Amino acid sequence: MNKGADAGAPVIVWFRQDLRLQDHAALNAALASGRAVLPVYVLDDDSSGAWAVGGAARWWLHHSLASLAENLTTRGATLTLRRGPAAEVIPALARETGAAEVHAGRMHEPWARQADDATAAALQRVGVELRLHRTATLFDLDSIRTKTGGIYGVYTPFARTCRALGPLHPPTPAPDHVPCPAPPQSDRLEGWGLLPTHPDWAGGFRETWQVGEAAAHDRLAGFLSKAVHGYDTGRNLPGQPGTSMVSPHLHWGELSPGQVWHTAEQAAQETGKGLEVFLSEILWREFAAYLLWHNPHMPEQPLRPDFARLAVRDDAGDLQAWQRGQTGIPIVDAGMRQLWQLGWMHNRVRMIAASFLVKQLLLPWQAGQAYFWDTLVDADLASNAASWQWIAGCGIDSQPFFRVFNPVSQGEKFDPDGAYVRAWVPELGRMPDKFVHAPWSAPQTVLAGAGVELGRTYPNPIADLPQARQRALDAYRTTVRRAAA
Ligand SMILES: Cc1cc2nc3c(=O)[nH]c(=O)nc-3n(C[C@H](O)[C@H](O)[C@H](O)COP(=O)(O)OP(=O)(O)OC[C@H]3O[C@@H](n4cnc5c(N)ncnc54)[C@H](O)[C@@H]3O)c2cc1C
Repeated sequence: MNKGADAGAPVIVWFRQDLRLQDHAALNAALASGRAVLPVYVLDDDSSGAWAVGGAARWWLHHSLASLAENLTTRGATLTLRRGPAAEVIPALARETGAAEVHAGRMHEPWARQADDATAAALQRVGVELRLHRTATLFDLDSIRTKTGGIYGVYTPFARTCRALGPLHPPTPAPDHVPCPAPPQSDRLEGWGLLPTHPDWAGGFRETWQVGEAAAHDRLAGFLSKAVHGYDTGRNLPGQPGTSMVSPHLHWGELSPGQVWHTAEQAAQETGKGLEVFLSEILWREFAAYLLWHNPHMPEQPLRPDFARLAVRDDAGDLQAWQRGQTGIPIVDAGMRQLWQLGWMHNRVRMIAASFLVKQLLLPWQAGQAYFWDTLVDADLASNAASWQWIAGCGIDSQPFFRVFNPVSQGEKFDPDGAYVRAWVPELGRMPDKFVHAPWSAPQTVLAGAGVELGRTYPNPIADLPQARQRALDAYRTTVRRAAA
């Protein structure tokens, strides 16, 4: 607390990846101070560097900020927008408004932690304290320890420990009123250029997503009233609406993970397998945040250092074919096109497409991670990096390197009637089920009957699957042997 602050001094609430009013520990603490509350959002592309919010996520951010601003307005407060390094912007605002203290949610991204330290130090110089609260995870990530005080590297015991920590605090409601001082000068949201202009690639986003806190609750409620019951099996079928699609709402904090947990537990009619599996996925998100918290280099370097020496290929043409959904492997192309259209891809297909990139194409996982970062509305540094490392076999708790997904059998298993492929790769719309996942294996008459001419209407596969699998295994084995020698 700024001891010199006068009785009328406001407190700042610095919103970050927690763009909501319900269950917001930083906002609640600010309101509990009894002072006027100044809500602020800082677009800090300076501190985030290579991990500045990506293109698709910027679209989401724009709409989420608009929604938050509106929710604040109806409660009597104005959201102030500023752009620049947080360590300069926040202390400047504190000076300008004579703020008594600053409350914010803790982020687990390494760049944000550095920015927090710098911001706290700069605030301290003007006698103001930065108080960080847990708004983005279920637990304090430092508090989850093995019996000997160590850090978990494996999901299952981590999840067991989380569950044993007992019931979470019930989520808190949004305040009816947020007493706000006369707001200082603010940037205009439109002036930040977060939305695409030419070309406008966000048409599919607009058709798919409703952004903001109220929409987040609607999306969760819709899922909990239906799909959660068969989620344990339905979550693997990309052609069906079997998952919640709450990931962007969770990333941007329109929903807190605690709210998702509580609402799910309360809404489930029977404590079936679907609910259990859904909750375990929420803990996968927590585990990814935990891994990043304890391994800040995770987005750049393999958690198993030997894998830094894997002899990956450098092939811009293959990378571009993958990005554009033009690999000639239907399930991979369907996923990459869904990603481009919606800013989201089904988890099963994320795994297949990612595996194809790092194994069959033998391209670096960091290249895939970077593309996902730019194209996902739910792009999350922790979940993205942990998932890519898991697929590439270089994470601590990864699938073994010799597990190479076969995209054809994966497609046949999880998209048996080809509904997903047909939805996203219309060129194959008339292919019979039997060949829709491997059109190159179809007789010429079948291809002609379906209007498919490989190499003209749809690409020939850019990789020979058995050969590419062998190439990956050879490269990975060499790396593992070298490490063991
Ligand atoms: C290569 C790759 C990259 C990924 N990148 C991201 C990313 O940037 N951001 C992101 O949120 N998720 C990422 N995931 C995880 C997962 O694919 C998405 O969370 C999920 O598809 C979101 O859809 P949903 O909300 O319908 O999930 P649901 O199946 O309904 O799951 C509910 C929630 O649990 C969490 N969750 C589910 N699966 C995972 C997982 N494997 N790891 C961590 N959390 C999980 C998410 O918050 C999700 O919203 C990635 C997965 C892969 C294989």
